[in-house]
Amino acid sequence: MALLQISEPGMSAAPHQHKLAVGIDLGTTNSLVATVRSGMSTVLQDEHGRSLLPSVVRYINDNEVIVGHQAQAKQSEDPINTIVSVKRFMGRGIKDIADKAHIPYRFVSNNASESPSQGMLQLDTRAGLKSPVEISAEILKALKVRAEKALGGELTGAVITVPAYFDDAQRQATKDAARLAGLHVLRLLNEPTAAAVAYGLDNAAEGVYVIYDLGGGTFDVSILRLSKGVFEVLATNGDSALGGDDFDHRIYCWILDQTREQTPNKQPLNEEDTRLLLTKARQAKEWLTDNDEAQITCKLSDGYAIDVVLSADTLVELTQNLVNKTLSPMRKAMRDAGLELSEIKGVVMVGGATRMPHVRHAVQDFFEQEPLTNLDPDKVVALGAAIQANVLAGNRSDDDLLLLDVTPLSLGLETMGGLVEKIIPRNSTLPVARAQDFTTFKDGQTAMSIHVLQGERDLVSACRSLARFELRGIPPMAAGAARIRVTFQVDADGLLSVSAREETKGIEASITVKPSYGLSEDQITAMLKSSFGAAEADKQARALAEAKVDAMSLISAINIALEQDGHLLSESEKDEINASVKSLEQTLNTEDSHAVHAATEALNETTENFAAKRMDASVSRALAGKKIDEVDLK
Ligand code: AMP
Repeated sequence: MALLQISEPGMSAAPHQHKLAVGIDLGTTNSLVATVRSGMSTVLQDEHGRSLLPSVVRYINDNEVIVGHQAQAKQSEDPINTIVSVKRFMGRGIKDIADKAHIPYRFVSNNASESPSQGMLQLDTRAGLKSPVEISAEILKALKVRAEKALGGELTGAVITVPAYFDDAQRQATKDAARLAGLHVLRLLNEPTAAAVAYGLDNAAEGVYVIYDLGGGTFDVSILRLSKGVFEVLATNGDSALGGDDFDHRIYCWILDQTREQTPNKQPLNEEDTRLLLTKARQAKEWLTDNDEAQITCKLSDGYAIDVVLSADTLVELTQNLVNKTLSPMRKAMRDAGLELSEIKGVVMVGGATRMPHVRHAVQDFFEQEPLTNLDPDKVVALGAAIQANVLAGNRSDDDLLLLDVTPLSLGLETMGGLVEKIIPRNSTLPVARAQDFTTFKDGQTAMSIHVLQGERDLVSACRSLARFELRGIPPMAAGAARIRVTFQVDADGLLSVSAREETKGIEASITVKPSYGLSEDQITAMLKSSFGAAEADKQARALAEAKVDAMSLISAINIALEQDGHLLSESEKDEINASVKSLEQTLNTEDSHAVHAATEALNETTENFAAKRMDASVSRALAGKKIDEVDLK
């Protein structure tokens, strides 16, 4: 009789059971799900053998929703209820959407004050108001169903990829969507990091790698450093309005030019013909990746027959400047990371548009090395996410691959004078925790308002407000005596929490930052740009604000001293001090930091004598029977 096995206490009864974990590339245009099977990362297909799931959701009625190819087919017929590219709206408010006029949806702001997503946008559809989180959840549900069918069981968890520049609100929204879809999120992973993992760079030589991602509508470049088995995102950059679609548009315009040559009075195209020609343009572009010529034929709705031949050379001529537009974000990312070209160990190509030979050549010329292209550029992110999911689910216990990302913008808090003190600088590696001590501004101050900000500028007004909270119950002390330790912590998923602790009594307050709006990549770029341009102005503004804070605390200290010990002064001495306080107060209404400094100095001088008298008085009090360490010399 065979012996039954009994596991050791604490050990799983089925130690070698493979957990079903997947990687999901939740893309703007298409989404994919992949898993590791027999040690190989593989993209899971639908029942028709298709890997890509178009990220399109169509609401048919209250109870019926379709996702993917079928939804995509109805896009032009039912645009209001067929949502494409919902990723653009994740973690966004209405005011964040710049090109509303060109988007067919009915946007509504979520004003429900009890809702955690108050201020976020919603879309008014036939099935009622839908948030981007709910819409994305439909895509994730479809991928979950696909995966569970293919793998024959319930999923343990998923790694979901997000762009490296996604901010807190966008990451939180992605997590919420997964939760709504019934998925356990093992980790949010940056898309470029996932691509690097797919190429096995985590097992490659240590060094710096560039991920060049040109998709249908966006371009992203990320620079990662691998050292001691740890990936770190050094810098990210990109152009959120540049992708394969722009190449299609160039070809489309070229076709129109050709037809105008033949029939100069041709009317502008209607919507249907425009879509038809754009599809033809896209097919020609993709064909030219492996061929020298593409024949473009179609019939417009007025019966006009188009029949033109586009050569690969003409395609290059038409679109070379689009390819060149990707160079400047690359240069900026290199500069941000402080790197020379010679330090780049490898370049990974991601996104369908990187199949175009002239794109590959441009990247090769720029980095002076051949990029890695042997994996399908559409699948590489999902494949990498699956590998990471497999590790996190515990299927590869011998492997402790650790992936690190960075903060896209600095995080800090407001200090007196409307200034920002940066606690975590931009491009800090995640997870990160930094603490700094602050103190009170006024005597007896028992509460402190913590205002959390994001941005590169010195002034609160030029940064983005993320959250506010209060620390109450600080024991009353003299201004500057309390020690308040404020800790900023950003977890591996990029989510920020801030806590403040008063050190003597140990009272604490904290907040997990879920900003009501996220930031677009463009906004991040704009904030960075404005910080570069405004450095000098910010320096002056900081000097002025700091001078004013010093002046105000001096005035406040002198007023308290006058109240307590004014009797030590003659009337004329008091008048002199009051006059000096007044002239300092007057400078506070100016923008002149030198004047504030000078008046502060003057007041310090005027009160020197008073300070000496107070000290004498204190010493006399001490001599009158008190121990010296009880004497308050203030
Ligand atoms: P993605 O967003 O990564 O799925 O990339 C989609 C873009 O890649 C679209 O603009 C496609 O037209 C483009 N694309 C896909 N296959 C090819 C190909 N063989 N040659 C050129 N572009 C392609």
